[in-house]
This record gives sequence, C-alpha cells and structure tokens, in this order.
Amino acid sequence: MARIDLNEIAHSYKPNPQGPDDYALKRIHTTWDDGGAYALLGPSGCGKTTMLNIISGLLEPSQGQILYDGKDVSKLPPEKRNIAQVFQFPVLYDTMTVYENLAFPLKNRKVPKDEIHKRVLEIAEILDLSPDLNKKAAGLSADAKQKISLGRGLVRSDVAAILFDEPLTVIDPHLKWQLRRKLKEIHKRFKLTLIYVTHDQVEAMTFADKIVVMYEGELVQIGTPEELFENPEHTFVGYFIGSPGMNLMECTVSGGVARAAGMDIPVSGVGTRRAEEASGKQKVEVGIRPMYLDVREPDAEGLPARIINVEDLGSAKIVTLEFGDTTVKARVPEDKALPAEECKLFFPPEKTKVFIDGRLAK
Ligand code: ADP
Ligand code: MG
Repeated sequence: MARIDLNEIAHSYKPNPQGPDDYALKRIHTTWDDGGAYALLGPSGCGKTTMLNIISGLLEPSQGQILYDGKDVSKLPPEKRNIAQVFQFPVLYDTMTVYENLAFPLKNRKVPKDEIHKRVLEIAEILDLSPDLNKKAAGLSADAKQKISLGRGLVRSDVAAILFDEPLTVIDPHLKWQLRRKLKEIHKRFKLTLIYVTHDQVEAMTFADKIVVMYEGELVQIGTPEELFENPEHTFVGYFIGSPGMNLMECTVSGGVARAAGMDIPVSGVGTRRAEEASGKQKVEVGIRPMYLDVREPDAEGLPARIINVEDLGSAKIVTLEFGDTTVKARVPEDKALPAEECKLFFPPEKTKVFIDGRLAK
C-alpha cells in the first residue's frame, strides 16, 4: 500500500480552458495516507470520477503531479501504477466462471497457482460468493456481478490503493448495507488504502475514517464525520452533512450582529470581523445546525419565532419555525416539551457560524 500525494492538480476537459469554470478540477493539493479509509463525498458532477481516474492513470491531468510514496507516477499508465479500480457498473468476463473472474487479475500478474487459489477462496468467502465459484458469471444477478467486480478489485494483495467509484449504485439496499460493512472489515484486515466515492452522506459516514468533501471541482474539507458535523468549513458541508442540514441565511454583519431574515442574531465568534468588512459583492451567510438551535418558551431570552410544524422521528423531533421572513429547522430531543406556537429561538454564539462566499469566516 502507498501514500498518495496529489500535487497542485487541475484538470480541464477543454482544449483551451479560459476561466475556472472550464475546469472539472480546479486546484487539488492533498495527501491520502497509507492505509487510510477515505470516502470522497460530493454531488453529481463535482469531479469525483475525474479525480479517481487521475489517481489511477486513466486520465492525465492538465496540470500537476501524482506521487506514490514520493515517487512521481504522473506519466505512468494505469497498469504500471499498481492500482485496483472498481467502477459503478460491473466489469467482468461473462463467459468465465466466478472463480476464473476472481483469479484473472492474479493470473495476469503470474502469481503462483496455489497462492491464487488461496486468495480467491478467501475473497469469495468474505463476499459470500463461495457457493457460486463454479457458475458462469453470465447467469448471475446484477448484485452478484457487482460483488464479483468488487472481488476482482480486492483480490490482489500488492496494490498501492483500491479505488471504488460508487460501486454499490446497482446493489439492492439491504445488501448494500452488508457490503459496506464487509468493505470496512476488509480494510481492517488487509490495511488497504481505500478511496471510496459516493454521493450518499450516510454511506460515507459508515464506511470511512475520513471524509473528503468535494464541491464544484474543489476539496472543500477533509475530516472525520464528527469534525465535519461540528466545524463545517464550507456551507456545502453544512447543509450536505447532517439531517436536516445546517440552517443558512443570507445576512449582513455589523457591530457583532448578523442581520438575517429581518432579525438581529448576535455573532461573536472568530471571523465576525472579516464578515463585517466583506464587500457588497461577497455573499455573507449565517449558519447554525438544527441540533444547536434552542427552542424556548415565549418569555425566555432569544428571538421571536413561531412553530409551524413538528415532525416526530421517534428518536428526535424536527421543528419547523417561522423566523422573520424565512423558516428554520430545529432538531430537539424526543422528550423535550415544546411551546404551543409562539416561542423564542436562542442561537448559542459558539455554534453560530458566519460564511463568506461559502467559506467559513475565520
Ligand atoms: P462526478 O463523478 O463527481 O459526478 P465527473 O468527474 O464525472 O463528476 O465530472 C466532473 C465534470 O466534468 C462535470 O461537469 C462533467 O460534465 C465533466 N466531464 C466529465 N467527464 C467528461 C468528459 N469525458 N468530457 C468532458 N467533460 C467531462
Ligand atoms: Mg462519477
């Protein structure tokens, strides 16, 4: 396994890119640690596949270098990079048996026969493919085929990293959950560097030690699920991670107060100063996670609001409130007594963040 460095990578699919909008990847400078389990999370079209293909060598970036353990592999083709890649849809040989499909990547590399046998049985066992080993791949279900694809990615023990590009898209939801756990198990057992692309935050949270969040061709934040929840560095992280996502309101800031939705919300944290100095061209937003928004009795300290809906999730309640000229959501404990309708909303200052053009002001 290897550490992978992406050194000032940028990529445009256009022959003569003009501005930043012509780049699928704008500027990526990051390190993937040896043995790490990463989820690469971002909406469709943000550049996830482009980045994986650059790491594996299927695509040559317009700018920058890729290093494996400090060695520049930028000019090496995929087969020289020692990477396994699993794609969104099954890639296998229909006319071969499951066993032959799994053995293929090893046979190709002239691994001794008994070692191939051992490894194929091991991987088949993990993926519950043992009963199917002698069946032809052609007759199997879509789920089974994708499991074979996963197996083909996992079977080699000498790879620098395994890249998964939304591999569970075609898989049935229940099996999806099982396979995710399997991948986690495999990661623990074999200490692989895994990069797992997904647009599903729940999938990213359950699978990875670290989540790399991508948005419009940039890495906006890398962190543990907890870090992303507690300290979102970008509004995208704020509303994409967490359920419901962060409340975000456009505002102006002056004198330590954010004016949003016609209300004055005290903001004392770092970055307040920068938000006060923001130019009219910049978009300034104030954000708070629903979990930290405190819904209080009408005579308590806070800003006036009105409860317009309460959704009971069993473990918590999601309260929708009219607040100034907008609506916000609060997530409160199941057993919390709520005011009838009129209430106060309290924004704990340390949990109330200010963003400038999407980025946390600091
Ligand atoms: P993701 O995997 O996150 O959905 P992609 O990496 O596939 O995103 O795409 C990033 C951007 O690059 C998108 O705007 C997409 O339309 C564009 N793109 C992807 N592949 C190509 C290609 N082969 N030629 C031209 N544009 C492409
Ligand atoms: Mg993709």
